[in-house]
Amino acid sequence: MNSYWLTIYADTFLWIKNDKVLAYNSKNGKSVKSIANEQIIKICLKLLELKNLYTIEISEYESDKNVNKWVRSLIKIGAAAINKICNADEKPVSFIPHLRVQYNKAYYQYEHNNGIGGSIINNLHEISIYINGSSYGDQNTYKQTLFPLNVDYNINTEKMLYFLSGCKNPYLKQINIIGNIFNLNDYSHMINVINKFDVRICIYITYNDFVENIDYVNTFKFRNLHFVILINSELVDMDKKKNIYKYNKQFIITNSEEISNSRITINSRNNIVPYYNIKNIDFFKTHVFTDLNELKNLGLSKRDIFIRQALNIHDFGKLTVMPDGKVFANVSEDALGTIDDYAYDIVYKEFTSGKSWFNIRNQKPCSDCVYQWLCPSPSNYERAIGRPNLCHIKV
Ligand code: SF4
Repeated sequence: MNSYWLTIYADTFLWIKNDKVLAYNSKNGKSVKSIANEQIIKICLKLLELKNLYTIEISEYESDKNVNKWVRSLIKIGAAAINKICNADEKPVSFIPHLRVQYNKAYYQYEHNNGIGGSIINNLHEISIYINGSSYGDQNTYKQTLFPLNVDYNINTEKMLYFLSGCKNPYLKQINIIGNIFNLNDYSHMINVINKFDVRICIYITYNDFVENIDYVNTFKFRNLHFVILINSELVDMDKKKNIYKYNKQFIITNSEEISNSRITINSRNNIVPYYNIKNIDFFKTHVFTDLNELKNLGLSKRDIFIRQALNIHDFGKLTVMPDGKVFANVSEDALGTIDDYAYDIVYKEFTSGKSWFNIRNQKPCSDCVYQWLCPSPSNYERAIGRPNLCHIKV
């Protein structure tokens, strides 16, 4: 009987969960999922032993129909190679894709304990600041997407700006301001200070607040400043409202009719955000839940998968400040502190003991699913709906 080297290429991930095996070729986005018998599982486990360098000897390639079929399916997606062994010393070599420790808590703990902390702040990429409320806001939507509260107090601007100065770092890319900015007496001063950060500034404002203040909108003349107009009830034609400022529209949608009955056109300036309101689970099942087809067409790179294995793609690097000064990594979790604290301490706390930045799919049922690392990280929709997974896939 001939013996063969079975080599899995270094861009291919091999995941085993119970009797299922998924091979995912991150170079071309192709995958093959198999219900594996004992023999195939044994082969996979051997392949995944680091010392075997993703290459093992198999003798069943010709004799075992199942093994033969499985190996051929791997070759078909460019995930593996099979070579007859002529000289046992000439073993091909490959490498299991392995997550390098990039987001190393121990490193930052060492820095912190030795009083040389500081670089941890470089993980902060985006800050959202709820500066006040709006009479068109509400107390629920903000848990799923950036949307004004309905409160009648303002943030302490000076304290907030001082906190923000501690957030400065070369990787800070965006500051979001949510509420009715035109109700702040010192909004001009605030924007002038924030503008010096030289980051993208996005002002999230309801459609009504925007239109009621259109004359003030046109006085803003900052290159990096951008309005996001939030529309969650009547779907309006913004283009009829005269203004010179650049803006995007964000439609907050709870059912399919709102899309089909409206004049929403999806383009680079319009964005649709689904909102779960307890009564619309069917809408979510149809439009938001992941299905197999979607997962198969994600085309994730090796790096994309490593990121999903290490951190939460929605929350990592982000902080939210509420009008009462509380600071969160995710508004559905406990506050990390307030704007009276140092930004460094807040970031350190989330990095080393927080629940959001590293909230990955390592809970059941996802931890038993072969698609665990292809799926996007858990989001606030899971929290709102009260399910750990939003998919149509049977584990
Ligand atoms: S069970 Fe979890 S990992 Fe599996 S497809 Fe559903 S959401 Fe993704």
